[in-house]
Amino acid sequence: RNISRTLVSRFFKTSSSCKSVMPAWVIDKYGGNDVLRFTKNASFPVITYPNEVIVKVFAAGLNPIDVSMRGGYGAATMSMKRDPLNINQRGSEFPLTLGRDVSGVIMECGLDVKYFQERDEVWAAIPPWKRGSLAEFVVLSANEVSLKPKSLSHTEAAAIPYVATTAWSALVNTGGLTKDNCAKKRVLIIGGSGGVGTFAIQMLKAWGAHVTVTCSQNAEHFVMGLGVDHVVDYTAGPVEVPLAALDKFDLILDNIGGSTERWALNLLKPWSGAKYVTLVTPFFQNTDTLGIADGMLQTTATVASKALKHLVKGVHYRWGFFAPSGSALDEIREMVDSGQIHAVVEETFSFAQVPQAFAKVERGHARGKTVVQIN
Ligand code: NDP
Repeated sequence: RNISRTLVSRFFKTSSSCKSVMPAWVIDKYGGNDVLRFTKNASFPVITYPNEVIVKVFAAGLNPIDVSMRGGYGAATMSMKRDPLNINQRGSEFPLTLGRDVSGVIMECGLDVKYFQERDEVWAAIPPWKRGSLAEFVVLSANEVSLKPKSLSHTEAAAIPYVATTAWSALVNTGGLTKDNCAKKRVLIIGGSGGVGTFAIQMLKAWGAHVTVTCSQNAEHFVMGLGVDHVVDYTAGPVEVPLAALDKFDLILDNIGGSTERWALNLLKPWSGAKYVTLVTPFFQNTDTLGIADGMLQTTATVASKALKHLVKGVHYRWGFFAPSGSALDEIREMVDSGQIHAVVEETFSFAQVPQAFAKVERGHARGKTVVQIN
């Protein structure tokens, strides 16, 4: 460690902290909640590239992917991202720190970092192959980081980045929506009451879209409070029946997947550029079970055949993915600070209660976000 610190010290703008260990929650193997382990001796993050920053974590948001990754989901793809040349031994990712959302303060900047300085309050969504935010400090690329909205506490800010950058990637980059072309567009969100849904509703409403969501009956009041125009209760019977009676949609964001694909694309306006974007894809399952090469091949074949099948019917079928983006968070910060988007924090936990926070996310039925207060 000391050698690596000496080697990289030329990248620091300022002298780095003297700390070499820090408190963190880690896992040493994949499994259930019992694999979560608190340690005071996690290795302190190190700046290895000149565009990196070290952030002191004040709050960390949890997402369903943290529960899935705790169980080994995506392990093959993450290993490839961390170790593209496959030099390290199997299991070299451990001890692994989870947690994809961070709100905190910059402690140290690499030499090429121009936009940030020490003590800036920032928020970020951490890519799943990087060490997560359930720790006192985390290292990130500056282009993944953004100045935190001034109107939010750290706890509130940590509820937004991962779901927001996912929704942004799905709706803007994949779905082609922007604040200038959204007015009056009819959008259906399948699964509106969770983390991604509650953010997507607010963003689309701020941009003037007409938003319909599916959710369970006991979430109707909750999503209406976020500005939804029309709610369909999926627990009252086959949800596609009431949805088919509505005017057709310009875009569908699917947060649920599975059987929804059998009927959802029939709800789109054909031959108008209408798109179905699903966040529930077999990408990681394929690489986990088939390996990287065969998994990628299988994934490409699946998405291409589905896209073609629906293209001949005049609608577009797409997969949406989380994409880390400081610049998207910059735009989202303006929407937050102007009061167009609110953080939806369902429950907060202390740093000592990380296993309880995981158990909460694992139980499902989210109504917004679960956040862990770290400092
Ligand atoms: P959450 O767990 O926060 O929310 C899911 C919501 O869906 C809950 O409110 C749940 O409430 C509701 N729900 C469950 N079943 C249905 C149903 N049949 N119809 C309508 N609503 C339903 O998840 P997120 O919002 O964070 O994520 C949504 C999905 O997107 C997850 O599957 C996640 O893995 C995926 N995702 C994918 C990403 C990617 O890169 N591809 C990135 C981020 C997320 P209730 O059960 O009470 O109805």
